[in-house]
Amino acid sequence: MPELPEVESLAAFLRERAVGRAVLGVDVVAIQALKTFDPPVTALGGLTITGVSRHGKFLDFDCDGLHLVIHLARAGWLRWRDDLSGAKPVRPGKGPLAVRVRLAPDELGLAPGFELTEAGTQKRLAVYVVKNPDEVPGVAALGPDPLADTFTIDALKAIVGGNRTQIKGLLRDQKVIAGIGNAYSDEVLHAARMSPFKIASSLTDAQIADLHEAIVTTLHEAVERARGLAAKDLKAEKKSGLRVHNRTGRPCDVCGDTIREVSFADSSLQYCPTCQTGGKPLADRRLSKLLK
Ligand SMILES: [Zn+2]
Repeated sequence: MPELPEVESLAAFLRERAVGRAVLGVDVVAIQALKTFDPPVTALGGLTITGVSRHGKFLDFDCDGLHLVIHLARAGWLRWRDDLSGAKPVRPGKGPLAVRVRLAPDELGLAPGFELTEAGTQKRLAVYVVKNPDEVPGVAALGPDPLADTFTIDALKAIVGGNRTQIKGLLRDQKVIAGIGNAYSDEVLHAARMSPFKIASSLTDAQIADLHEAIVTTLHEAVERARGLAAKDLKAEKKSGLRVHNRTGRPCDVCGDTIREVSFADSSLQYCPTCQTGGKPLADRRLSKLLK
C-alpha cells in the first residue's frame, strides 16, 4: 500500500510530467471506484492540470480549479504511460485497470497519461471529482501532516495525551496523523525502540520526543530515497528500505535478533523483540483467543 513517502514521490513525479497538460478524457473502467457524480467526470475534459499535491495518502490533481482526488488504497497503483494514443479502448470487468486518464498530445504527437490499477478482489481504490478537496470525507477528516512544520513535539504530545489506544493503532489512524500506514508505523516504532502495544497516554515526555524524532526521520528518509524515482520503481524502493515491516524471520539490522510477527487489527505487524519489547515476544491475541 502506498503511504506518505510513496504518494509524496508520485505527486512530484506527476507534477513534472502532467502539469501544464490538458486532460483529453477520463475513462472509468471500474465504475465502483468513482465516488462522486456531480460534477461529472466528463467535466475534467479540456481542463488543464495546474498542480499535483498530496493530502495524507490522497493524490490531488488541480485541473483549473476542479479537483481529481485519488486514494490508491491497499492494492492500488498508478502507472504513467508515455503514449496512450495506441492504447486499446478499455472494457469494464477485465483485469486490474480501474481508471485511465488521457492527456493531450505533445508536439511530438505522443499522448501521455496515467492508469490507476488495483490488484485483488477487494476493490477499495477511490476517485473523486470535487470543487474542493475538503469535500472528500477522508481528506476533510485527516489529522496533521507529519512532514508539516506545525507537527512539533508539543503537537504529538497533544495527540497522545489522554489517548488510551495502542500506539501502533494510533499511528495508523488517518484522523490522528495523516499518511502513515501499516508499513511505516512498524518502521517508526522500530526506530523509536517502542512496543507497538504500548498505550499512547502512558508515554513519558522523553518517549514522546523519541517517537516524534522517529516519525519525522523515518518519513523524511523514505521521501529522500523515493525522490526522483519513476512511479514504476517506487514499490521496489519502498520494500528495500524497510527494516522490520514484512521481514518476519530475518535478522534485525540493528541488533541481529529475529524479527517477529503478531496479528494486529485486520492484518499483522512486525517488530524486533530485543529493540522494542525487552526481548520478550508479544502474545498473539488472535491466536490465544482461538486456543481458549
Ligand atoms: Zn533489533
